[in-house]
Amino acid sequence: MPSTRPPLQNHAAIVTGASSGIGLAVAEALANAGDAVAVNYRSQPVPAEELVRRITDRGGRAIAVQADVSQEADVTRLFEEASAAFGRVDLLVSNSGVQKDAAVADMSLADWNTVIDVNLTGQFLCAREAVRRFRAQPAAGRPARSAGAIIAMSSVHEIIPWAGHINYAAAKGGVRMLTRSLAQEVAPDGIRVNAIAPGAIRTPINKEARDSEEALTKLLRLIPYGRIGEPEDVARAAVWLASDDADYVTGTTLFVDGGMSLYPEFRDNG
Ligand code: NAD
Repeated sequence: MPSTRPPLQNHAAIVTGASSGIGLAVAEALANAGDAVAVNYRSQPVPAEELVRRITDRGGRAIAVQADVSQEADVTRLFEEASAAFGRVDLLVSNSGVQKDAAVADMSLADWNTVIDVNLTGQFLCAREAVRRFRAQPAAGRPARSAGAIIAMSSVHEIIPWAGHINYAAAKGGVRMLTRSLAQEVAPDGIRVNAIAPGAIRTPINKEARDSEEALTKLLRLIPYGRIGEPEDVARAAVWLASDDADYVTGTTLFVDGGMSLYPEFRDNG
């Protein structure tokens, strides 16, 4: 008889940037799969606390933790609070991200730095803390085959160049190599490191690209599968990558993009 045990039972996760969009959906899906979840937010406590309430009302475990992922001390505190609440941390979903778009000639150093600090340095700080924790936890009583797993929220722009967004594309390109290099480094510790590359997902980050009928039509031309993605499309991929079903998967990026990275411009012979 197939097991009805939730795939992430007794597991504990930290999801950064989980008060909106993809992070919120990922945190909720992980909780539904049995994970205890630290719901990180930077500046929006209300949706984070509402999510925590939804999870605990259903009998799950969750806490909300304020932290800015670009600040070293905040990241340390985030992991300390999660460990104190759940006794362990088995999964990091490093999801926080920002966009500060401008043509290169108009891009301020501040906007360059903000995007690199949050989208790339934030990934480094969180991954470093996760590796330290995973290594320090005893093997006995582990809820998963791996000693810990990291999922970095990347983007199709880890491979697709993006004019007018060079800070964002440079950061996501960095996430691609951070994921692969880190996976190589920590695989002998039994730690898995992967990335998810969403395409166009319906969240606050890209509201403008969907706002008008014209913008939507233009966007849909880039998506062979013919629809905008939903945060839950990404959340289901994250649950799988976090679970033992993906135990032999490390150092790769799972594209959840309706085919956006398949060079759709070449559909009609280029
Ligand atoms: P979103 O704006 O809803 O989510 C981003 C989250 O990051 C927010 O909750 C925000 O508070 C948080 N955040 C920002 N700065 C932070 C900081 N310094 N510390 C902690 N948290 C911080 O947008 P989203 O689409 O859900 O984005 C989530 C991730 O998915 C991002 O990394 C984004 O680059 C990536 N992504 C999104 C899409 C898409 O189409 N929506 C496509 C590709 C990649």
